[in-house]
Amino acid sequence: MNTLLLINLAYVVSAVLFIFGLKQLGSAATARRGNFISACGMLIAVVVTLLDQGIVDFRWIALGVAIGAVIGLLGARLIAMTAMPEMVALFNGFGGLASLLVGWAVLYEADHATFTLVTVALSILIGGLTFTGSMVAWGKLSETISSKPLQFAGQQFVNGLLVLTILAVAAVFITDQANAELLYALIALSFIFGVMAVMPIGGGDMPVVISLLNSYSGLAACAAGFAVNNIILIVSGSLVGASGIILTQIMCKAMNRSLANVLFSGFGTVKTSTTTIEGEINPIEAQDAYFILEAASSVVIVPGYGMAVAQAQHVVKELQELLEENGCEVVYGIHPVAGRMPGHMNVLLAEADVSYDLLLEMDEINTRMPNMDVAIVIGANDVVNPAAKEIEDSPIYGMPIISVDQAKTVFVLKRSMASGFAGIDNPLFFKENTRMLFGDARQSLTQVVREFE
Ligand code: NDP
Repeated sequence: MNTLLLINLAYVVSAVLFIFGLKQLGSAATARRGNFISACGMLIAVVVTLLDQGIVDFRWIALGVAIGAVIGLLGARLIAMTAMPEMVALFNGFGGLASLLVGWAVLYEADHATFTLVTVALSILIGGLTFTGSMVAWGKLSETISSKPLQFAGQQFVNGLLVLTILAVAAVFITDQANAELLYALIALSFIFGVMAVMPIGGGDMPVVISLLNSYSGLAACAAGFAVNNIILIVSGSLVGASGIILTQIMCKAMNRSLANVLFSGFGTVKTSTTTIEGEINPIEAQDAYFILEAASSVVIVPGYGMAVAQAQHVVKELQELLEENGCEVVYGIHPVAGRMPGHMNVLLAEADVSYDLLLEMDEINTRMPNMDVAIVIGANDVVNPAAKEIEDSPIYGMPIISVDQAKTVFVLKRSMASGFAGIDNPLFFKENTRMLFGDARQSLTQVVREFE
């Protein structure tokens, strides 16, 4: 068998491992294995590529591997779970920069076909904007820079002009056989465009932007793959590009917003509804909550961002166990955009060893909601806001929610009447079957647990 065939066979094996690994990422129970399988695919791809090239000096490769491994290990150990979106932003950014450099390096070879120049221009453009866009996203999430949307009059016009300039420069760059000045101009313009595209977006929308930039980093890698004529880079880049865009779409749908609205509206300055909410709020104490829970035979726990703030996941698990010992069925209702990053609630509950089988997705729990004795809302607000169904002029009207208001009794655990991420009032708090248990979620739950004990 000749070497080329062997190499291509190894690439097919890695591609299969990537796809199989991605499939396993679809469920929390198999996600770790999926990650490991994909990593094995990547190892095969890298090793085979290095052997194939023959030109590399392995001392440099070893140095790169050592530095990368140390950074990766420290990152994985030291970064808090809640800072994961920031870390992903950095990864995406550097992925984009790597593709830019690969595209640039291709120019050092003699003679370029027009197709190669097109792919080089694409890897520089997409890679460059992914790099600076991700850095801004990281800055906004970590509050290193202001997370407010930065908007000014005529912004869309300026951005439109920038896109036209980029297209013109890229066209001349391709026809002019990669003139060096134009190359630098292209790099600079792509950097500027990344900043201009992400600055007008509010910090709260950064997880969506990061997911989109993740998709871009895949596209940049794919373009770089064409530029260096490496099949596995094309395949892996396409997989990242496609999965990133699918996740972006899922998040936008769950927030009831279009991608255009996330990218161009500067959310955070939204209109509020003019409809007034009627009814009274019914505050209760931990002891009252205990009496109701003690008599309940089915309870659904619906966590939100406040559970993460209060770090209440461990005491939630304690309450679950006490309820179960008392003969009560306990499940969790998980909204796809609860918290501030995809899978936020799943990660926290997994940390507290809550079984995956108990986590029900929105549609499943909604059909069971009318049969539930008690729904305990822990620091969730927007994802349980019935305004999404009842108030037509509400900014969240139409957003799919977990219908806790359908349960027989609802407990809402939060510190005040303050609104959530969307900045709007919540009629749930005024419903007849709702009881407000005010206070930090961890403290309130600890008191309820004490009553049980
Ligand atoms: P929300 O932001 O709507 O509400 C969180 C609530 O938690 C607040 O009302 C707050 O009320 C309460 N809270 C805060 N700290 C505590 C505490 N220590 N103890 C008890 N309660 C507390 O959260 P949801 O999870 O319901 O909704 C998520 C929102 O974020 C959605 O609008 C979604 O679109 C958006 N989003 C989600 C992303 C994702 O990937 N998951 C990404 C980007 C945006 P109080 O101050 O009174 O305590």
